[in-house]
Amino acid sequence: MKSIPKLLSFETPKEKYYEIAKKNQLLRLGVKVNTPMACNWACPYCYAGSSETSDRPKVEENIYYNGIDPYKDKEWGNKMKSWIDQSIEMGVNTITINGTFEPATSPDIFNIIEYCVDKGIYTTLVTNGTLWEIDDLKRLYNLGISILVKLNVPMVDNTDERYVEFCNIQKNLSGRKQDSIKVYEEQKKLIENLIEIGFNKKIANECTRLGVESIIARSNIEYLPELVQQFRRLNIYSHIEVMKLQGFARNNPNLQVTKLEMKKLFKKILDNDIADGYEPWDIKPPYVAGTCYQNLIRLDMKADGNIAPCPGIDLIIGNMNENKLRDIVKNEDLKIIRNLNKYIQGDCRDCELFKKKECYGGCRGTVYQTLLNHGCSKYECLVGSDPSCHRVKKVLDNGLSSDIFK
Ligand code: SF4
Ligand code: SF4
Repeated sequence: MKSIPKLLSFETPKEKYYEIAKKNQLLRLGVKVNTPMACNWACPYCYAGSSETSDRPKVEENIYYNGIDPYKDKEWGNKMKSWIDQSIEMGVNTITINGTFEPATSPDIFNIIEYCVDKGIYTTLVTNGTLWEIDDLKRLYNLGISILVKLNVPMVDNTDERYVEFCNIQKNLSGRKQDSIKVYEEQKKLIENLIEIGFNKKIANECTRLGVESIIARSNIEYLPELVQQFRRLNIYSHIEVMKLQGFARNNPNLQVTKLEMKKLFKKILDNDIADGYEPWDIKPPYVAGTCYQNLIRLDMKADGNIAPCPGIDLIIGNMNENKLRDIVKNEDLKIIRNLNKYIQGDCRDCELFKKKECYGGCRGTVYQTLLNHGCSKYECLVGSDPSCHRVKKVLDNGLSSDIFK
């Protein structure tokens, strides 16, 4: 049986994740580098940015620490390096780098990537990819890092009858203003270049250094099984993720699909995988063929020093300018997030996959945001079951139905 391509990172047995959470240690860190306040794309599903700006994702100046804009702060690179050092002391061996917005727009991007690489950290860059020159991509390859770029429809040429439709979907889901053919072709060319450079070569344990992230939205859902098949065959990790109504995405609820549609999508991809000789997997959120354990082992470090449990949970549990990371992890909300075996409510608690540690309550970000949008208390947002999972009917012990997620 073939293994599904996965991004290169340290191999850690899942039992270890639970131990790490218990010991208040870390294994992974998300670093948001210092980008300008708006993105070069305007994805309608963007979880960053404020829902108050309706044209494109932006952040307001007042979120910056003491009014300092990290993008203009000459000392930012040194500050972030010292914060990364604190995370390494606590066990971090894998860092995912993205930005407040597109990381290629940060003046410190190579500075931070090279620092992580020098420290022996497995590093993954998450980028929309548009702003890198070919020499930059080669430099990233030679640094040994992995790269996760974006595409929301399969790659076809202009003889395919769906070509114009795919161009339009890619344009709409990236929010770019350019001609749709240019938008689609640029993204295809980026992936072709990354393949030519060698990012998708098979390495240790069936891993790859190239991943493509796609959102599940109303406009592209029927084409995602084909996209996954295409990337599996190219040894590219396919990261298909459920959309959350968070940040700027709150303006675009019409893009979100129902959980029944999601279940059908996952089933179709699973059937394709089995037919193509890949290992089988359980259908559950938040990823196709994967489980998110990040809330046991990771923290998200924003450019202004704010710390959040993960990108999907809009909850700041401390700031690196004020406290040491070692103290921030003692936060009471984080204790709840990292000990859901004790606190979880609703149907996840009785789920066999939860008991066998095969699922850590779906996507904690989806739970947090859906319950928050529904007016639940912070505690309920932290402990609910994932309403996007087809197994969940009851989200909270008070009987709240999972119908709150469409
Ligand atoms: S819990 Fe959800 S939002 Fe958070 S890291 Fe995992 S998949 Fe992403
Ligand atoms: S019910 Fe909860 S624990 Fe079980 S698969 Fe669904 S999200 Fe995961």
